[in-house]
Amino acid sequence: MAMIKKVDASSYKMLSSFVTRLSSTTTTTTASRTGGQTPVENRIPTATGDGDVEIFDFEDTRRLFASVPTRKLLHSALTLNVCAMERMVDFSIGVMNSKMMETNRVFREAVLKVIRHSAYDHFVAGADTVEAGRTVNRLWDSGLRGMLDYGLEHAVDNESCDENTRELIKTAESAHALPTSSVSFVVVKITAICPVYLLRRVSDLLRWEHLNSSSFKLSWKQQTLPIFSESSPFYHTLQQPAPLSAAEEHDLELAHKRLTSICDKSINGNIPVMIDAEDTSIQPAIDYLTYWAALNYNKGPKPMVFGTIQGYLKDAGKRMSITKKAADKMGVPFGVKLVRGAYMSSERKLAHSLGVDSPVHDTLNDTHDCYNGCASFMLDQVSNGPGGLVLATHNLESGKLAAQKARNYGIGKEGEKLEFASLYGMAEGMTFGLRNGGFNVSKYLPFGPVEQIMPYLLRRAEENKGLLSSSSLDRQLLKQELKRRMKSCFSTNEKQFKPTTNSMANN
Ligand SMILES: Cc1cc2nc3c(=O)[nH]c(=O)nc-3n(C[C@H](O)[C@H](O)[C@H](O)COP(=O)(O)OP(=O)(O)OC[C@H]3O[C@@H](n4cnc5c(N)ncnc54)[C@H](O)[C@@H]3O)c2cc1C
Repeated sequence: MAMIKKVDASSYKMLSSFVTRLSSTTTTTTASRTGGQTPVENRIPTATGDGDVEIFDFEDTRRLFASVPTRKLLHSALTLNVCAMERMVDFSIGVMNSKMMETNRVFREAVLKVIRHSAYDHFVAGADTVEAGRTVNRLWDSGLRGMLDYGLEHAVDNESCDENTRELIKTAESAHALPTSSVSFVVVKITAICPVYLLRRVSDLLRWEHLNSSSFKLSWKQQTLPIFSESSPFYHTLQQPAPLSAAEEHDLELAHKRLTSICDKSINGNIPVMIDAEDTSIQPAIDYLTYWAALNYNKGPKPMVFGTIQGYLKDAGKRMSITKKAADKMGVPFGVKLVRGAYMSSERKLAHSLGVDSPVHDTLNDTHDCYNGCASFMLDQVSNGPGGLVLATHNLESGKLAAQKARNYGIGKEGEKLEFASLYGMAEGMTFGLRNGGFNVSKYLPFGPVEQIMPYLLRRAEENKGLLSSSSLDRQLLKQELKRRMKSCFSTNEKQFKPTTNSMANN
């Protein structure tokens, strides 16, 4: 309350009315598009008696956003409302990709300054480990954890891979200085530590070996878990690939060493490593390295190296069950992050250009079914056996289904069997709802200088574009809470709600 009162009343009123105006424009336009009805995505879910009330309580925005300062709420509301304006986002993307960004220093500095104070502040955890650490502390105080992701994109040679490895080791070191358990994972993209051309070559060879297992052997291949199912896409490798040259084998060995040094640093401080999934042309090599590391590090009761499976792939369910079974047989706890997948257009484009079936489900409903089916399978598995599941999603229905099932199994914070995860700056309503529901919840925290993080920001701008984007629920909840706080400024009998804090804060 004291904090709210500190906000200058007139500027607060002005900003709030701006936010309200932006939001009412949103509702009007959407309603006209949907024949006058408020679309489902724009309705705040209420307790329906089918279990909603137990998992998410979106009615009580005071409780939901109790740990978020008003300044931050206003900033989020403004950023998400601007992101919902398609023309504005298209214009911004045009500016960021324009030639002038390369040729005109003054123009570039001005644009970067605007980005730094808008989308960057909203979606990025900081410029370096110190700023990201501050974000982790803030999240931890409000009952959330952080997945530290030093925003590195594809590396082309060994030199940049070595430089990236040093940064990832620094990230793991910085995580150890933060409160115990406040960092749930150090995130690694294999494309940052192994040249992409080599991942392509290794993936080709792995595919060929899988298809010709009786006659074709890879001498350099180390022990790993199953990477393919019969329904996996093999069309990337149409003919027998040349064997790895001595130099390529050496480079692959370097990639193993880089991954080992990152895992050593992170896991010695008891922080698990999360390996992201990318596109199917290189994913077999990513899985190969991930599962190789999992066999080396997942020796205790809980997994320390997690891979990622994308539910939009037609082979996701089959692969998940084959790999989990093989890990169980070897006595290795299997840890997996389940996502829907972020490379849909490029996957479909490539398949189309080759005249083959897309590896991505034909309909969005099939993807939803696959995602929810995989989540359900893993919850069954970890409820009374080894393994860990990270459910990375902003989809309310998937979150609700999994949370209800986990609750039925008695899976909560203890044992660290299940972690919900969402991207920093997104799905705040769902994030706080799951936290209030008693689950472990992490925010995925990309950090790095603004120039380096630009491709990530462009993807987020694209994802939040449009009135029906996944941020529509957040925009509505933020508006409702800002209105409530504004009213409470003028009311004396409103009590400050005590936020849920992290029960592991003193572990
Ligand atoms: C913590 C975290 C980590 C992540 N890590 C990764 C990662 O390692 N690798 C990765 O690839 N992605 C990753 N993502 C991104 C993720 O894959 C999704 O792109 C994003 O989260 C949106 O999916 P959603 O589950 O939130 O569901 P929703 O908000 O319901 O999104 C559904 C979207 O899925 C797409 N879609 C999927 N299948 C279909 C289909 N068959 N037809 C039409 N549309 C379809 C559409 O664009 C649709 O809008 C991560 C996301 C999070 C939150």
